[in-house]
Amino acid sequence: MSSTRNPTLLHPPFSRALFPAAALLPLVALLPAPGLAKAEHEGFERFEFSLPRMGTMARIELYAADRARATTAAAAAFDRLEALEQILSDYREDSELTILSREGASAPHAVSPELFFVLDRSLYFSRLSGGAFDVTIGPVVQLWREARRAGKLPDSAALARAKAVVGYQNVVLDPTNRTVFLKRAGMKLDLGAIAKGYAADQALELLRSRGISSALVALGGELALGAPPPDKTGWRVVIGSADASRSAAPCTLVVHNVALSTSGDGEQFLDLNGKRYSHVINPASGAALQGRASTTVIAPDGTTADALATAISVLPVRDGIRLAESQRGVSALIVRKTERGWQHFTSRGFPRPCREMLN
Ligand code: AMP
Ligand code: MG
Repeated sequence: MSSTRNPTLLHPPFSRALFPAAALLPLVALLPAPGLAKAEHEGFERFEFSLPRMGTMARIELYAADRARATTAAAAAFDRLEALEQILSDYREDSELTILSREGASAPHAVSPELFFVLDRSLYFSRLSGGAFDVTIGPVVQLWREARRAGKLPDSAALARAKAVVGYQNVVLDPTNRTVFLKRAGMKLDLGAIAKGYAADQALELLRSRGISSALVALGGELALGAPPPDKTGWRVVIGSADASRSAAPCTLVVHNVALSTSGDGEQFLDLNGKRYSHVINPASGAALQGRASTTVIAPDGTTADALATAISVLPVRDGIRLAESQRGVSALIVRKTERGWQHFTSRGFPRPCREMLN
């Protein structure tokens, strides 16, 4: 096995496993959960692995009977992530997505089941959010990426040209032939707001298919949680307040078989003339979101959590809360900094201890 295929085994036990979200707001962390009767699961050990995947450090934590089984399963999950990156990445020149963006406007283009599924879900979330989520945002994202590198705002004429080819309505999916047709030349797809959540789901599913159900997969701001660790009632996820000056203790969720996604300005942004521009774009204007903000979504699966966290970031707070409340098993925490300081908003379904702490 080459070193990129062989996951690093971090030796258990761990005192505190931090979800890699230090730069994100609010702070989301993992802690050991309260215990159940121990004897039932005797012999199960905790293993943790990490490797760079999907443009971030992917982390897998799982419980298995022995190290050999744990390492083989984790290696297969990392291989699955690598295969998905080759399909879904818009950074790779030879990914299936890049080839589709290049060739999909001339004729319907046959794609893999994975790419078709993610595009199908993407169009669903675009319709649901009235276009706040839009994977045809690629040409505009590219200009903002260059702007971050150059440290100056994108040229407004170039931005207007890029925005002219954005529109999820111009993606035509044919489920019978599993093809994708892009109706406008120059369109460019970007799955950055949904691919990690989907990949986390897929890695968790792969572990399940190998008999490992107590596992978690963390990919940047995405966290997919399987069955509770042995002897535990769930995974403990700690959500801290965005506002460091608040004295309130962070709230703790004990959850399993759900996904969490945090989307915000914490990871990649452009700071210019005292203004902070996020890597999330409002497709209606082509502008990067401004100001300090983050959205955390809890959903039954990572694909949904990822897409909705981005969509809700773009929407006005009330519309975002309404969107979360319209979906079964979905809840959201929105944090925004206004002239009146940090403000927290939670949807009705957001777990009670956190609603009380943050409101
Ligand atoms: P996330 O961190 O999940 O919110 O995803 C942000 C990434 O998704 C950005 O870096 C862009 O590549 C892409 N993106 C930005 N704005 C949007 C949007 N409104 N809809 C869909 N994808 C977006
Ligand atoms: Mg997202």
